[in-house]
Amino acid sequence: MTWSTWQVPPFITSVFFILGVFALYTVTFNWLSSGMKVWNVNVSDDTLNAWYGVIYMLIFVFSIQTAVIDTRLSWEFMNFQLIAVTFCAYFLNIHIPYYSFFPIVLVYMLFNHSIGYWQSWGHAMTLMVFFWVLNIVRVRYREHHFAFLIYMLVDTLFGGILWFWMVLKFNISLTTFVQEWIYLIIFEILLYIYIAMLSQDTAVKLRLKNRATHDTLTNTENFSAYTENMDDLFEKSQKERLPLTMMMFDIDHFKNVNDTYGHLAGDRVLRHVSMVVQTVLAENDVNIGFYRTGGEEFNLIFPSYELADSKVVIEQIFNAINHIEVHSDADLIDITISIGVCELTSDDKSPIDFYNRVDKSLYHSKQNGRMQITVG
Ligand code: GH3
Ligand code: MG
Ligand code: MG
Repeated sequence: MTWSTWQVPPFITSVFFILGVFALYTVTFNWLSSGMKVWNVNVSDDTLNAWYGVIYMLIFVFSIQTAVIDTRLSWEFMNFQLIAVTFCAYFLNIHIPYYSFFPIVLVYMLFNHSIGYWQSWGHAMTLMVFFWVLNIVRVRYREHHFAFLIYMLVDTLFGGILWFWMVLKFNISLTTFVQEWIYLIIFEILLYIYIAMLSQDTAVKLRLKNRATHDTLTNTENFSAYTENMDDLFEKSQKERLPLTMMMFDIDHFKNVNDTYGHLAGDRVLRHVSMVVQTVLAENDVNIGFYRTGGEEFNLIFPSYELADSKVVIEQIFNAINHIEVHSDADLIDITISIGVCELTSDDKSPIDFYNRVDKSLYHSKQNGRMQITVG
């Protein structure tokens, strides 16, 4: 149609068709990914990408084939389908063995009415090996210096064999065979470039997001992330009647550290203290949020924790920090912290009420001689 009406060769249309298919995939994936966060579904982007990618490509492969089943040109969309296979096997992080691909191939053959042709069986077997080899190449060589060349070598080789099966089945001419093979190679190059551009874009976005939500000195989450997460958790705890506990700590006499050993030594102490807390959290529960809410003040949010449940982790942090000595040139700096802890109650009408109560407990620890825990 496009050729006769717009004078656009089918090859050019195909290029834009493929780009369109992947652009739609990217847009819908991003929409789903942010939707998962809004709906509080705990699924990683990697897992979502793998599952959604496979489902999307299956719908794509099957739906375009419906137009040509049982026609003389039922091989016409094969390059699009090979691109979909390459996408799933090479660009998605799917962890399924290659033989799980067999039932899909079988269903496709039944659907395409090609189960009775020996050439189709040859084609199907080659396709499975292609899928398997691409999987291996992805795992072993995706980060390799020559990743692109290895990818192209596999695609070109298998593309040739797969199209040769079509020569045997449909008697397509040598010219068509070579032409389709070359088109496939071009499409595979475009796919590689397109995905590389997208991943670069995603990496930049992730870096920016990380910078916006994290404190650069200590690599803990920052005050803005605290406010956002606390607002969400406060609302969720009230709506679903879930417990919520918060701990706040402040380094004792930190001004003295700066005054005695210098500001850089003070920075080193802040980094060290944060690292100790992060280690304790990694060993206990990664869902506990850790935020730098002031200069030498930090908050920890324990989602769905009652006061008693948080005790073990809080004591571990308290003991770990009170026993560290941070090296500063020839000196050893002793650190102690004061802690305030509270569980959310119905008297807390807003996240600020809750924060103030925890702050008051911390203040009590300070007033009472420091290096202690006050539970409010
Ligand atoms: P207290 O035991 O009552 O908490 O005493 P303190 O000295 O720790 O408290 P104070 O609030 O008087 O002093 C906090 C100090 O923390 C003052 C400030 O210079 C220092 N500080 C804040 N942010 C940073 C930082 O990023 N790096 C360094 N090195 N010091 C910081
Ligand atoms: Mg202090
Ligand atoms: Mg302070």
